Amino acid sequence: MAKPIVAIVGRPNVGKSTLFNKIAGKRIAIVEDEPGVTRDRIYTEVEWLTHQFTLIDTGGIEPESEEIIPAQMRRQAELAIETAHVIVFMVDGRQGLISSDREIADMLRKSKKPVLLVLNKVDTKEQSAHLFDFYELGIGEPIEISSALGLGIGDMLDEIVKHFPEEGMEDYDEEVIKVAIIGKPNVGKSSIINKILGEDRVIVSNIAGTTRDAIDTPFTDGEDQYVFIDTAGIRRKSKIKEHVEKYSVVRAIAAVERADVCLLVIDAEEGVTEQDKKIAGFSHENGKGLIIVINKWDLIEKETNTMNQFTKDIRNELSYCEYAPILFVSAVTGQRMNKILEKIKFVANQNAMRIPTGTLNEVVGEAMLLNQPPSDKGKRLKIFYATQASVKPPTFILFINDRELMHFSYQRYIENRIRENFGFEGTPIRFINREKA
Ligand code: GDP
Ligand code: GDP
Repeated sequence: MAKPIVAIVGRPNVGKSTLFNKIAGKRIAIVEDEPGVTRDRIYTEVEWLTHQFTLIDTGGIEPESEEIIPAQMRRQAELAIETAHVIVFMVDGRQGLISSDREIADMLRKSKKPVLLVLNKVDTKEQSAHLFDFYELGIGEPIEISSALGLGIGDMLDEIVKHFPEEGMEDYDEEVIKVAIIGKPNVGKSSIINKILGEDRVIVSNIAGTTRDAIDTPFTDGEDQYVFIDTAGIRRKSKIKEHVEKYSVVRAIAAVERADVCLLVIDAEEGVTEQDKKIAGFSHENGKGLIIVINKWDLIEKETNTMNQFTKDIRNELSYCEYAPILFVSAVTGQRMNKILEKIKFVANQNAMRIPTGTLNEVVGEAMLLNQPPSDKGKRLKIFYATQASVKPPTFILFINDRELMHFSYQRYIENRIRENFGFEGTPIRFINREKA
């Protein structure tokens, strides 16, 4: 199920990243931090009451210590309006209202998105001396918080989750395979889309449940239903290319959030970039299927080992998603383009695969026989029982005697045995260790 996106906007120095870090610091980690998943984040997963959402700090994408230009601020607000379900508009309660606050407020007010006006730096129990000035912005009642001291944040989160759509966020029926095509500008995303759609596929606008056909491209291939998510951003060719590259990461995050399978497109001549790592990391953490597409393969001079060498380099750069299949294609010559859709369908199925409990326990039992669980101070790890709790991504619960004894390397070993037996190609899998007396 796609989670809502909440974006924090506001001019520099009002305290956006302080708030972001305060909330991110408290997050209940679903996935352990893994080496390689980048630390320099602009998003975090948040759980509040029964809700889960993705929080994005749009200020975090500004180049540091560079004087902010109004155009950049406008772009930031636009991006929030395009991608977020709820916008947190932060102002400085100590400094009071200034003209650039008004500019951002004007843009946000015109959008149809719910906007929360948050007055930061209210560090005492007393209200800000400037509180009443902010009503003038026409965004409603300001919520007073202190990000630094952690005051008022719970009330603010309560207010945020009130604006989430009640009936959930699903745009399409379960059978429709949702695909996000992500990657830097110019790597060939729209060429790939055109090539795939150019063959016998029928573009339809009436796939059941479609609510976003303006930005998505739904199509069928025989019996199978697909939708390319947020193709508007990719295909809009007249667009002024995002001069701050990181802006497209925010867009990609919003697309990945809604997808079952992500196609990460990489330019063969350029290789893996920082941006690719961020997006692949997001896909991984959100349990999405992932396929790495090396495009413009026609431009590479090949020797016997070229493909192997490429594969090795990519595995090195994206070590946390070793499960992702790699396709070497050319949207221009059409080489291996017919494999893409096939792979998407396959990976979507792997991401949604369920293993019967009996079979699963045979494999886990055999794994323990082949390679004894670790022990510490005379106490040995025991896995009593395993069961698959959910899909998308496949998540396994291991009932064990002592969580302290489950080392990362043994967990990895179990994961590998499960993959050897069942596949799960293209999807992350997760484990929850539960102690049983
Ligand atoms: P951003 O540019 O909007 O991301 O702002 P930062 O989070 O970098 O904060 C700018 C400055 O305001 C830093 O010096 C923070 O320590 C300070 N600051 C942030 N939140 C608060 C707060 O709640 N109270 C006070 N007194 N200072 C704060
Ligand atoms: P996007 O910005 O990621 O959507 O990239 P485009 O699809 O617009 O492609 C950018 C440029 O790369 C265009 O000039 C394409 O013709 C070119 N291009 C795309 N795919 C290939 C390919 O497989 N081989 C070569 N040689 N050029 C390609």
